[in-house]
Amino acid sequence: MITFKNIEIKYDDFVAVPNLSFAVNEGEFFTLLGPSGCGKTTTLRALAGFLKPTQGSIEIAGVDITAMPIDERQVGMVFQSYALFPTMSAYDNIAFGLKIAKKSKAEIDTRVLELAKMIDLTPEQLAKNVANLSGGQQQRVAIARALAKKPKILVMDEPLSNLDAKLRKSLRKEIKEFQKSFGITTVYVTHDQEEALMLSDRIAVFNKGQIEQIGRPQQIYNESATEFVCKFIGEANSLTAADLAKLGIEVSDASASDAFYVRPEKVSFSRTASAVNRIAGQIVGKEFYGMYGYYQIEIAGTKLISFQRESKAEQHRNGE
Ligand code: ADP
Ligand code: MG
Repeated sequence: MITFKNIEIKYDDFVAVPNLSFAVNEGEFFTLLGPSGCGKTTTLRALAGFLKPTQGSIEIAGVDITAMPIDERQVGMVFQSYALFPTMSAYDNIAFGLKIAKKSKAEIDTRVLELAKMIDLTPEQLAKNVANLSGGQQQRVAIARALAKKPKILVMDEPLSNLDAKLRKSLRKEIKEFQKSFGITTVYVTHDQEEALMLSDRIAVFNKGQIEQIGRPQQIYNESATEFVCKFIGEANSLTAADLAKLGIEVSDASASDAFYVRPEKVSFSRTASAVNRIAGQIVGKEFYGMYGYYQIEIAGTKLISFQRESKAEQHRNGE
């Protein structure tokens, strides 16, 4: 549905994106994930038409849109700051693009009411000035506005980052449900690993304008292609071949320069230590995170971190 071919994007002399190629399938929820400043917004803006790449081409449904004006691309965009018109009602915000496109009043009304229903906005809320709506409602209005003209593609740039943690979680679920029920091809940008893992069909992990790995969430997490991906997507114990030898773990074909990564939830502990792959160690630190405990364990001079469910770990309270 979307193809980026050898895209380069510069701001004057600064190369923000050196050479980017990827493809998004029809109906897919595709996420660009990476740290701040890695080129996510730049890439989205090129797709939506707010800036022109200096090299390469972008296709949507087989049509080269690299130089096509914004309003012909059929890409609906939700901005990080919502970018709603603050003095207008929710209704007028959603209707804006349709008015510009000179749709009839009746047609606009039907479409706005349909969208309002979809985003759970009551007629009273629709009539309100958007400045008087909650952050979550404003965000829904921004999504409805982006969808008003029935775009082929929906792009969202960190749409949840201005909301508090609890609201972020509930809206993230709603976004997932919208997208599923519409089946609209979606390109989503976030720096939040958990958000990307929970929402996406596939994730492209970005680092300095380049893709480190593209894959399903499980692949990205369990089969990280690079150290950057492994450490960006979650916590990891990083071990050398010498560490493994000290722990008494044998790995065939390991060379001294190899690095090994073990997710903390894969390190578990218990009092009885007779089975295979069990090594005596000591709990030297613990942080409490409600459902989970975050333990530091020292084994033969090597420190490992371990996440353990509190109910399981209960018996280790006293630090053995
Ligand atoms: P992200 O969205 O991943 O945080 P951006 O795409 O906004 O990253 O930025 C990528 C890089 O391009 C950063 O180094 C940023 O400073 C730079 N950049 C972004 N916008 C501009 C601009 N208008 N002029 C010059 N440099 C920019
Ligand atoms: Mg950004």
